[in-house]
Amino acid sequence: MPSTKTNSINQYCSVCKDHFEMDVVKQGSSKGVVWLKCPGCQGFLPYMPDESEEPENSRGGDSEQQEIALEDLDIENAKEYSEKNVYEVGEILHHRSWNDFGRVVSKDRLPGNRRTIWVQFLRQGKIQLLEGVE
Ligand SMILES: [Zn+2]
Repeated sequence: MPSTKTNSINQYCSVCKDHFEMDVVKQGSSKGVVWLKCPGCQGFLPYMPDESEEPENSRGGDSEQQEIALEDLDIENAKEYSEKNVYEVGEILHHRSWNDFGRVVSKDRLPGNRRTIWVQFLRQGKIQLLEGVE
């Protein structure tokens, strides 16, 4: 028997709460699914490629992610958001429709010289809003 590792895949076992080199087990009944056998608990589990574990919150125009908490925000002095107003980076906003607080993290301009702000909201995440609309 050649002792190659080509028929094993490193995967996390939620039962053992650890990663193992798992032997690939072929099961004819479930076509397309690769089954692995965990050497820890001897259980069988389907092979799951890493990309299926990615969280699906890739909203926003760039890659910078800033998590904020309610206690980080001076909500006593939050300004009501209106697209007619103009805001500064660092200001705290309250968006009435969403009942959500957020902080202005950056400013941007869209084609047509429309002014926008990027706001990191507590619940909605990072959202681009218009400002200074005439
Ligand atoms: Zn296991």
